[in-house]
Amino acid sequence: MTVMGRLAARLLPFGVQRFFYYAYQKGKARMFGCVFCQVASGEKPASIVYEDELCVAFDDIHPRAPVHVLVVPRKHIASLNQGTEDEALLGRLLRAAADVARKKGIDGSGFRVVVNTNGEGGQTVFHLHLHVLGGRFMKWPPG
Ligand code: AMP
Ligand code: ZN
Repeated sequence: MTVMGRLAARLLPFGVQRFFYYAYQKGKARMFGCVFCQVASGEKPASIVYEDELCVAFDDIHPRAPVHVLVVPRKHIASLNQGTEDEALLGRLLRAAADVARKKGIDGSGFRVVVNTNGEGGQTVFHLHLHVLGGRFMKWPPG
């Protein structure tokens, strides 16, 4: 994280931070294209954990837990709202999330799969993705 990012994280309430991060990511996608399409195609480097012909999983660059992996479809789908017709793909993403948890050794201890959707859901990158989080106790309800 940049110095400005660290400062903002200390001073600003979480909702305000999310708003700015959301605006930043939207602007970046408009200027440079979809970051997860670029990771899926290999154009942008990432620490790949799992891949098959339909999806790719890689470590999150700003991990929120000791294990924090993103599972994305290779095909560009903006959010879960646009993905509901492709049930086979949704099933594959979930199966990949379980494979990732096994690979990372957190299947037995437990993990959480999260799909943030649109603004109030906390989505900032508009290419459907599953967060696989684990390696620590997860709080409930989520913030
Ligand atoms: P969300 O806020 O639910 O849309 O999640 C987007 C996630 O993507 C955040 O946790 C970011 O840290 C992560 N992220 C953004 N860009 C990259 C990247 N290039 N490689 C890995 N993770 C990324
Ligand atoms: Zn995309």
